[in-house]
Amino acid sequence: QSRWVTNQGPLAEELESRLKEYLGVKHLLLVSNGTIALQLAIKSLGLKGEIITTPFSYVATATSIMWENCTPVFCDIEKNTFCIDASKIENLITQNTSAILPTHVYGFPCDTESIEKIAVQNQLKVIYDGAHAFGVHLDKRSLLSYGDISTVSFHATKLFHTIEGGAVITNDDELAEKMFLYRAFGHKDEEYLSIGINARTSELHSAIGLCNFPRVESFIDSRRELNSLYRELLTGKPIGFPKIPEDISYNFSYFPILLKNETTVARIIEGLSLKGINTRRYFFPSLNTLEYLNPSACPVSENIASRILCLPMYQELTKDDVVRICGSLSELLDSI
Ligand SMILES: *Cc1c(COP(=O)(O)O)cnc(C)c1O
Repeated sequence: QSRWVTNQGPLAEELESRLKEYLGVKHLLLVSNGTIALQLAIKSLGLKGEIITTPFSYVATATSIMWENCTPVFCDIEKNTFCIDASKIENLITQNTSAILPTHVYGFPCDTESIEKIAVQNQLKVIYDGAHAFGVHLDKRSLLSYGDISTVSFHATKLFHTIEGGAVITNDDELAEKMFLYRAFGHKDEEYLSIGINARTSELHSAIGLCNFPRVESFIDSRRELNSLYRELLTGKPIGFPKIPEDISYNFSYFPILLKNETTVARIIEGLSLKGINTRRYFFPSLNTLEYLNPSACPVSENIASRILCLPMYQELTKDDVVRICGSLSELLDSI
């Protein structure tokens, strides 16, 4: 009806301003997905050389580094939060290091304090891949407000989504202006000012976002309940659960479990799938093992990636579903 379907229309503007207010950040630019958000972030900071990153993330984190002609240097993860192990970053810094790019895995916050300290001491930039971090608050601050730039994905599989989409977030005016230009070919009206790409979202995607946005708190509430039901029903089984940090308000976006070994993971996936229950090895493989991504050893990440399994967690999942999933899972575990 508005006859305005793309090119930063009124719905994109409205979603941007609602998200900015909700997150309490100065600049948020909607983009077409969470991967191009990472690329815009790397490009706008002018990063070169090596970027220290995590091997326990979705492949987009590392490939966007390479796509921007930088080299990912993998720093192993911490076994409780699955986030980058900040105590191992400094050993990896060389003359060529330009930035640190960690992921807030499942919305668990990275050690932002230590990372900031290391970045300041070594004059490095920090980009957080906050694809999972929407709705998480640390010290009453959105987790997406940390670093020089935070990125987020609004892909259909994420807690808050616009089908395809994402955003770059920063409190820095200059970076925001750069990314604003990069998002739309480097030109503003009739002025051609810089290089750029097409990273825009459409009015249709923004409309989906505006429909989903008011429901985010209820999404989180129902996931919180499902999370505790899962934990209650699976207590006493040979399964490890990550500990949710106490000092944060969490989004309960995923339900990862740790199994004994890779063989168990394979059996559980197969057994559950025969009952119509879909699980996901997320994240697998550990990115440091991919030949095309500057491989190196990261034993903790490789171990966690080989044993992790995400159980179903989504809006329409009911408590009865969780009871059925846990019943099948328990039976399988008992039979192994
Ligand atoms: C989903 C995801 C991405 C990529 O986002 P897209 O919107 O699918 O491009 C990047 N990093 C992490 C950690 C993700 O989970």
